[in-house]
Amino acid sequence: MGTFLFDDVVFGPVNSRRFGVSLGINLLPEGYKYCTFNCIYCECGWTFKNNAEKVKLPKRSFVSKNLKIRLEELREQGIAPDNITFAGNGEPTIHPDFAGIIDDTIKLRNQYFPKAEISVLTNSSMLHNKSVFDALNKVDNNVLKLDTVIEDTFQMLNQPAPNISLENIIADLKRFTGNHIIQTLFIKGEFNGNRIDNTTQPELDAWLKVIKDIKPKYVMIYPIARDTPAKNLEKISKSELKEIEAMVNNAGIKTKVYY
Ligand code: SF4
Repeated sequence: MGTFLFDDVVFGPVNSRRFGVSLGINLLPEGYKYCTFNCIYCECGWTFKNNAEKVKLPKRSFVSKNLKIRLEELREQGIAPDNITFAGNGEPTIHPDFAGIIDDTIKLRNQYFPKAEISVLTNSSMLHNKSVFDALNKVDNNVLKLDTVIEDTFQMLNQPAPNISLENIIADLKRFTGNHIIQTLFIKGEFNGNRIDNTTQPELDAWLKVIKDIKPKYVMIYPIARDTPAKNLEKISKSELKEIEAMVNNAGIKTKVYY
C-alpha cells in the first residue's frame, strides 16, 4: 500500500475519523501534491518542486459548479453529509481564490444542507494573508496544524518552505481568539539519520505552554493512520495519546483523541 492522491475536485463522501460523513473538496492539482510543507508523514507522499505543467488549480467557478452538482446528487440520494471538508492533495489555502471559494461553499451549504459543517484542514502557513485569515474565521471548523513548537523538530518533521517561520505561525494562531481548533500529529521515528519524537517531555511542555497561549476551542490529537513517505516512523500507542490527552485536559483545554 502506498500514499495516495485525489483525482477529483469534489470527492466522497467518505467516512472520516474526525469529520463523520465528509464530502471532500480538493483545491489542489488533480493527482499532484502541492504544499508549503513536506511533512515526512504526509499521506499524499512527498512534495515535489513546483511544476508549472502539473500545478493547475481548479477555477473558483469550476469548484462551485462541481460542488453544486454533487450536493444536488446527495440530496436526491437522501445522503446528508456531516461535513464539507477542505483537504486534498496539499495545502488548500494556497489557492489564490480560497476566500471566494469559502464564500461560495457557505452559500451552497446553506442552500442544500444547512446542518452540515464546513471544515478546513490547514497547515497554518498562510495565516499572514488577510483574506485567508478572514475566510478561516468564517468556517465552522478552522483546523490548524501545530505539530511542534521546537524549531529543529519543525524543520525535520514538517520540512517547511524556506520563507516559512514557526514563530510567525504561532503569533498568527493567537490572533484567532478562540475561533479555532489545533491539530497535532504525534509521532516517533528516524529520518535522515535523525531521531524525531514530538512526544518527549520537553516537547510536550513547550507545546502545551503555547497551546495555553493560543487558547483554541479544543485540540485534536492523533497518530499516523496510513502509509508514510518516510520509512522508519512509528505509530504511537493509544495509551500514549491518552496520557497526552490527560495532560492537556488538566491544563483546562478540551482535547479529542482520534486513533
Ligand atoms: S501540511 Fe498536510 S498536505 Fe502538506 S505536507 Fe504536511 S501533511 Fe502533507
